[in-house]
Amino acid sequence: MRLEKLALNGFRNYEWESVSFSGGTNVITGRNAQGKTNLLEAIYFLAYGKSFRTRFDKELVHFDFSSAEILADLYSHDREQTVGITLRPGSAKKILVNGVRKTASELSETANIVLFSPDDLELIKDGAAVRRRLLDNAIGQIRPQYQAILSEFNRLLEHKTRILKDWKEKPSLLETLDDFSDGLCRCSAKLIRYRASYTLKLNEAAAPIHEDFSGSGEKLGIYYKTVSSVTNPFASEKELYYEICAHQEKHRQAEIESGQCLTGAHKDDLEILINGNPARSFASQGQTRTAALSIKLAERELLLAETGEYPILLLDDVLSELDGKRQEFVLNRIGGGQTLITCCEDEGISHRTGGCVFFVENGRIKT
Ligand code: ATP
Ligand code: MG
Repeated sequence: MRLEKLALNGFRNYEWESVSFSGGTNVITGRNAQGKTNLLEAIYFLAYGKSFRTRFDKELVHFDFSSAEILADLYSHDREQTVGITLRPGSAKKILVNGVRKTASELSETANIVLFSPDDLELIKDGAAVRRRLLDNAIGQIRPQYQAILSEFNRLLEHKTRILKDWKEKPSLLETLDDFSDGLCRCSAKLIRYRASYTLKLNEAAAPIHEDFSGSGEKLGIYYKTVSSVTNPFASEKELYYEICAHQEKHRQAEIESGQCLTGAHKDDLEILINGNPARSFASQGQTRTAALSIKLAERELLLAETGEYPILLLDDVLSELDGKRQEFVLNRIGGGQTLITCCEDEGISHRTGGCVFFVENGRIKT
């Protein structure tokens, strides 16, 4: 899969710009604040239908424009395809694939992307939210229906949280609490099965990469953690539903008293172990970077296995954060697919990749 041509109209600091990329490595270089990350953000949008930096699409529209457009020519699933996205503050985003209207979650049927950004270096040490986001984004790329379940889950969770916060002022709100809890248990059962099976595959793919990468045979382990009453996350949806309901029942009173949703898939996490020890507490800085990178490269391999094509890999400013040995490892490993790497002008990375070089300056791209 490759992005052949991209046009941006009124997207972030791009007014009217278009660019053609190579099917191999593309290095995007330039001084700070010129539009390198903005460019990757636009490309990311083609697969995820959202930004990786903001929840608010209106921030993506150029200050002087009333709408933003991302137009792409892609080669994927053995054919030329076009994706057109229009963002107009105040209206829903408009997504066209080959001229046909699509939803954001359907974009992954046409374009798949793996992004590695400095935020991903927090995968190992930060709170569970980062690791849940990794799972949600990665599974959404492979299973478009997952995103619909997750949206429904988030909608119910938001409602239930509001009930638990506001019932003291308006006790009648509690009448609908059990319906929302039930809906959440149903969605949780579905999410848990997807997440458990993805984690199993991620673990299998990331461990050999990490072992290779660390050079010292270190063992990386990634394990899925969910609601404590779930005995087997691979069980049938029905069994999971009953187990989650049991947990829910037990915590009903505590939820009402604390004003918080205490049970459900929104508390899921990944346990990451290096040589059997929790990486969150014991990993060194180097081990943290190695593990985060191995997980991202594994995500790329899983997309290849699932779709038969390498996804487009976006590396935003990460090479500069890695030492020479890790940079080499990444650069040697990314063959086979299309990659876009951003870096600052003076880093000399562009020469080492042997790829095409693009200079970004104030929202213009020069080759
Ligand atoms: P760095 O090397 O520091 O990461 P970068 O080249 O990746 O820099 P970007 O984050 O791509 O920089 O671009 C930042 C620039 O884009 C800033 O100057 C910012 O003001 C501008 N910008 C962001 N959003 C908009 C917008 N909606 N309209 C116009 N300009 C914007
Ligand atoms: Mg940047």
